[in-house]
Amino acid sequence: MKPESTAQAGQGRRPAGKRAVLGLVLPIFFRHRRRLALGLVALIAVDFLQLIIPHLLKIGVDSLADGTATENHLLAIGGLILLIALVVAILRFTWRYLIVGFSRLLECNLRNRIFSHILTLDRSFFEQRTTGDIMAHASNDLLAVQMACGMGLVAAVDALVMSCAAIGFMVHIHLRLTLLALLPMPLLALCTRLLATRLHQRFNIVQEQFSLLTEFVRTTLVSIRLVKAYTMENLQERDFEQLGRAYVRSNIRVATIQGLLFPVAGLVGNVGMLLVLYFGGRLVIAGRISLGDFVAFITYLYMLVWPMMAIGWVTSLGQRGMTSLGRIHELLSAAPRLQDRVRVPEKRLTIPVPGFRLRDLSFAYPAATHPALRHVSLDIGPGILGLTGRTGSGKSTLCKLLARLYPVADGCLFFAGSDVNSLPLDAVRSRIGYVGQETVLFSDTVAANIAMGRPGAGRTEIEEAARQAAIHHEILQLPKGYETLIGERGVKLSGGQRQRLALARALLCRRPVLIIDDALSALDVETEYAVIVALRQRLRGKTVLIVSQRIKLLSETDEIVIMEQGTIADRGGHEELFQRNALYRFMYEKQLHEPGVGINNGTAGKTTSSFRQGINV
Ligand code: ATP
Ligand code: MG
Repeated sequence: MKPESTAQAGQGRRPAGKRAVLGLVLPIFFRHRRRLALGLVALIAVDFLQLIIPHLLKIGVDSLADGTATENHLLAIGGLILLIALVVAILRFTWRYLIVGFSRLLECNLRNRIFSHILTLDRSFFEQRTTGDIMAHASNDLLAVQMACGMGLVAAVDALVMSCAAIGFMVHIHLRLTLLALLPMPLLALCTRLLATRLHQRFNIVQEQFSLLTEFVRTTLVSIRLVKAYTMENLQERDFEQLGRAYVRSNIRVATIQGLLFPVAGLVGNVGMLLVLYFGGRLVIAGRISLGDFVAFITYLYMLVWPMMAIGWVTSLGQRGMTSLGRIHELLSAAPRLQDRVRVPEKRLTIPVPGFRLRDLSFAYPAATHPALRHVSLDIGPGILGLTGRTGSGKSTLCKLLARLYPVADGCLFFAGSDVNSLPLDAVRSRIGYVGQETVLFSDTVAANIAMGRPGAGRTEIEEAARQAAIHHEILQLPKGYETLIGERGVKLSGGQRQRLALARALLCRRPVLIIDDALSALDVETEYAVIVALRQRLRGKTVLIVSQRIKLLSETDEIVIMEQGTIADRGGHEELFQRNALYRFMYEKQLHEPGVGINNGTAGKTTSSFRQGINV
């Protein structure tokens, strides 16, 4: 049950250039330039106002030192400092509102893009990437980008402005003392650089571990019944703990680097302070700078400690943001393997009941070593075609190719007379009702689940489709009938009920082609047969393909195709196949005495119609 490493799932992914990655967010910065500019002006104003405070202190201290200070003078300085603090508070609120707000807008934009892009991707993509990996993009990666573009940007600008201005004021007081105080700075830059590279690598691992953890929880929840049925709780718990521990370990490895960045910056700041205390003190004693200058200088140096420490934090935020943005870029660059090549006018598809022509169609799944279909040639036109064969013989694969869920080579598959590759995907898909082997229902009402393919459908149409799928009466038995919620917070349906709801959904779409891939298998033989008999009336003249293992159902179709190891092994009417096909006869004989099948022994060898008469329906 443990998910595979996402690194493996993402084989062949190439990291994109920095410019391409940044290209994802730069237009958003540009679009919100006014908001950003206003926010940054407020931020810079805060920095400058804060820098005035040491200067006011210097004036106060100097006046105290030379004895010119009066009570009013000191009160005025104190009042000014208070006023500045008030303006700073208002401006701080302003920049926070504008810049953090911007980062949330950016996050929202990226999230919407990721979601809409995921909707364009096809099955090949989802077979290679785990849901956990995709969810990690939508949570952790987006958060990292939002942090980098919000607080990261603030800290970077703040640090830059504060350090430049503070250094400017320090130089104004005494150039050589400033140079001395800044002596340890290159060391700090070097340490930060070295640590940031490590941080980048370790953060990548954290993100991958998070993907694994998310995927594990998802798969466990999805298959919770299986977990309980096989009493796998302890095993799952142990695996989860292991994954959790690995995640914590990789996070601690990140924290170690971050933990080093801050003390290193602080230490360097304090070394500077030591130098200033010693050499600055000597300058005061020698009368080269005033006591006020000395106090102001030390205050400026204190103001420099935060920007120095911020370098580490900003670098870490920036690295995290870039790594995450790179991963998001990679996801957004994934292109669907199935894409429209040529846009043909819709009128080319006006054949009332389109059918398929398969010519030497072969197909292998992206990760598979053996082809699932080999040289299949077949015409599927109006009428009901039954498809049967051993498990793994390629029936579902054929259905999926017809429904355009996987790409096919040119010249192999024709729909309504045109090569499918020359037709828009939507044009083909919108003409096919597809009921897959696995039923997919949403946590919504019964009515909404049926109406999914035709959101505007009225209640009468929904009920009619449900009647044709032989589920109407059972729906009426539910607590709130068609308004009953299914799934998580609503009632649970049986396998057969789920299948018939999916069939009703496809019937409601009223598409000219209907593909039912073994989608009635959970029904008892009688119900399945009743459904198919009802469908015969309803689908008269349409192109219908039904995959089934049930002879009773197959005998109601116009023609039966038997598949074996990805090829068409035989085809014909029920009676013909019974006479000459060993597999078909075996299936017939095996089902002969199954309860509910009710096939008379003496029917073998008679015509199809007489066979049908022998079935007790
Ligand atoms: P069943 O009666 O059990 O539904 P089937 O006839 O529908 O079987 P398919 O699902 O078409 O069989 O599978 C045909 C072959 O393709 C099998 O060997 C299967 O293992 C393989 N296969 C199916 N789906 C995939 C996939 N997504 N990736 C790789 N191989 C696949
Ligand atoms: Mg199948």
